[in-house]
Parts: sequence; C-alpha cells; structure tokens
Amino acid sequence: MANWKGNKLYSIWHLTCPFCHEGDFFISGPYDLKHVGELHKNCPVCHRKYEKEPGFYWGAMFVSYALSIAFSLLAYGITWWIWPDLGIRGYFIAVVGATILVAPYLYALSKILWANMFFSYHGVNGSGVN
Ligand SMILES: [Zn+2]
Repeated sequence: MANWKGNKLYSIWHLTCPFCHEGDFFISGPYDLKHVGELHKNCPVCHRKYEKEPGFYWGAMFVSYALSIAFSLLAYGITWWIWPDLGIRGYFIAVVGATILVAPYLYALSKILWANMFFSYHGVNGSGVN
C-alpha cells in the first residue's frame, strides 16, 4: 500500500494516534474485553494528549450509535441477499448476533473517528500541538 500516513483514514484504519499516526491509540486490541475502548492518556510516541477535556469521548457515543445502526442495516442487507427466505426471526438473530460480534470494534472505531474529527496530523515532532 502507498504511503498514506497523514490521511485520517490511516489513523482510523490502524487505530493509531490522530496526531502522529505512529503511537497506539488504545491500550489494547478491541477484542481484549477487559480493556474495551480504553485509550492511552497520551500518545506513547509523540506524547500529545488524547483527551481534550474530561468527558471528551462522551460524544463518541453518538458515533457509536450511528455506526451500529449502519452496521445493522448492512448485516440485514447481506443476510437477505444470502438467505432471502430466512424469516423474520432468522433475520433478527443474524442481525443482532452480527452486531454484538462487531460491537467492540465499532466502539473502538467510534472513538478513533471522534478523535480524528477534532485532531489532525502533525507528525511526530510537528508544530501546532493542541
Ligand atoms: Zn502520537
């Protein structure tokens, strides 16, 4: 893949620091359920703060909600496409099951998306720290 560091999608895809795209954003992977969605206070590489103010990541709940709805619709569409005669109960189980399976990832994704809405790339030693 080409060098796309500096693009917000890089940080989102790799779940890395929104400022330098190098350090880990989360203390652990999205499926480490003990630490689900927990992020570092500061970037381990560039040391910029991830939390603008206390409660900053509450807003990510809206993103998480929107992502879950979008994902459910997608899961419904795919299920319907693969098994058109599954029946309402089958759809329900498939969609709810799939959404539960991806929930930890969607939760992590909502936080990194939220961070990227407010923070932008400055490189490891770049100026413009906020
Ligand atoms: Zn960083």
